[in-house]
Amino acid sequence: MKKIALFVAMVVAILASYSIAFAYKNTILVDGKPFYYNVPDITIKVAGQNFDTGKTPPLILKDSTLIPVRVISEKGFGAKVEWDDKTKSVTITKDKTVRLTIGSDVALVDGKEVKLVAPARIIGIGNDGYTYIPFRFLFETFGYKVEWDQKNYQINAASPPKIANITSFTTSYNNGVFSVNITADSPIKYSQGVIEDPGNIRIYVDIENAIWDKGRIDIPINKKSLVNAVIAQNQTQPVPKVRAVIYLTDVVPYNITKSQDSTNLTISFDIGTSYVTGISFAKEGDYDKVIINCNAEQFNTQKVGDNKIVVDISDAILKMPDGSKAGQIPVQGNVITAIRYSQYNNDTVRVVADTTGKADYSVKILDKNIIMLVLKSQPNEMPLIYIDPGHGGSDPGAIGVGGLRESDVVLGIALKLNSLLTKGGFRTTMSRDSDVFIDLVTRSQEANNAGADVFISIHTNAFGTPTPKGTEIWYYPDGYKGDTRDNKTFAQIIHDNLMKEINTVDRGLKEGPNLSVLNKTKMPAILIETAFITNPDDAALLQDDAFQWKVAQGIYNGIVEYFKKLKEGSISATVSNSVYDTNNTNSNP
Ligand SMILES: [Zn+2]
Repeated sequence: MKKIALFVAMVVAILASYSIAFAYKNTILVDGKPFYYNVPDITIKVAGQNFDTGKTPPLILKDSTLIPVRVISEKGFGAKVEWDDKTKSVTITKDKTVRLTIGSDVALVDGKEVKLVAPARIIGIGNDGYTYIPFRFLFETFGYKVEWDQKNYQINAASPPKIANITSFTTSYNNGVFSVNITADSPIKYSQGVIEDPGNIRIYVDIENAIWDKGRIDIPINKKSLVNAVIAQNQTQPVPKVRAVIYLTDVVPYNITKSQDSTNLTISFDIGTSYVTGISFAKEGDYDKVIINCNAEQFNTQKVGDNKIVVDISDAILKMPDGSKAGQIPVQGNVITAIRYSQYNNDTVRVVADTTGKADYSVKILDKNIIMLVLKSQPNEMPLIYIDPGHGGSDPGAIGVGGLRESDVVLGIALKLNSLLTKGGFRTTMSRDSDVFIDLVTRSQEANNAGADVFISIHTNAFGTPTPKGTEIWYYPDGYKGDTRDNKTFAQIIHDNLMKEINTVDRGLKEGPNLSVLNKTKMPAILIETAFITNPDDAALLQDDAFQWKVAQGIYNGIVEYFKKLKEGSISATVSNSVYDTNNTNSNP
């Protein structure tokens, strides 16, 4: 018995190998009609291994190569195959559901229609009917890459690639190179491209057969032209695909490198770096000024205790003339005793000002490449009021009724205002406290350098006829040419308080963009035209000492209210650098 069984097995094996080697000749039923089939055998190789479909061989009919659905799906893919005789349809279920209907060239893959190159059909072999469909559709739907080898009459299918999990998506910046890093748990393949819309450039990297299960991650970059980096699962069908996109405002050269084991992708951008090339110090009046020469665009400042002000310059490398990577510059400022600097980390330069005590400071970029650190020597003290009586010396200003001189009247009011402010605890600086000539630009510059909180210019008005009379206040228009001061609020408060004290004609507020003392000052500034020196009624008031005191009192009350509101936070004041215009030589009225 044993011998016979062995012999039978050998015969079966030989027959099986013959059936592969020779042409398949048989009468089969195609669409119900007998058909004599005589075409060389077609072999199927999956990952290099022969795949035997038994009594249902692959067939070539009308130039399309057909394969038996059931044996390949069950044996090859491990899928479940169900036949529904009522609808004449086959349903194949594995990680997706494929439905085929006899006579139809449309398949449903997870409910979505997919066109076949030839319809599904029943082929009758022996006494049974089998569903056949074009080979490419079935293999590709289940993730196999497949090719037809015409010379050898062979279908070559490659197993589905392994799905990689993307495990991390990070960014880094080193020595002027910004990198986006993608890491996977197994080797990955990618394709990439650039979409260029003006001002919105996207570089994308597609990783096929990959899963990113952490949702859409958006990492802000904000360095030079780089805006942000985003990763997300771009699609799950037919193959899972992960897409990483880097958004840019401008074209930046980049390159993509893959680690040797293909589990890591790096997209790098050479965005360059900024350099700190020098640090200097200057004492200007009450101010200590630290000038950092650099082409940096981003910095952070912080106060550490009462004796240290720290400026961190981002994306910057220290390149001092002496080559030092850290150093200390002793200085003798109002409050600064030393300036220290160092390459704080890979891409940050730190500059520290050591101070003797509490100090106010502001840091800004001027001329695009200089960061100034301005320190006020005495913080938390009363505001500094700059009082500017107009004209003086060789410039008497307008000459009014009875030869009354503007320069004398406004000096009288200014000195009274100064005494009220001083008594009230304010700090003051006057452009002049005697009858001397001071040019216009000097007045603004002096106020700017002193760090005055407000600027008040006092004038009297004049006209060719005696009729016009009354009081008006001029201010620089808010926001004009990028000005950031709130001049109008200041003017309004002074106006309201002044008009409560005096009963001149109220001519209101006026915008004066071309007045030198308004457009060259950095702090809120106004010019008061107290009254018309050319009008008899006004002129009588202007030379009256009691009236001058009332004007001074009104302005003083306004100043008190203004700083009270600032302190409460109901209004705000900013120093403006954008308007300061030394070429403007228009004179004051
Ligand atoms: Zn004047």
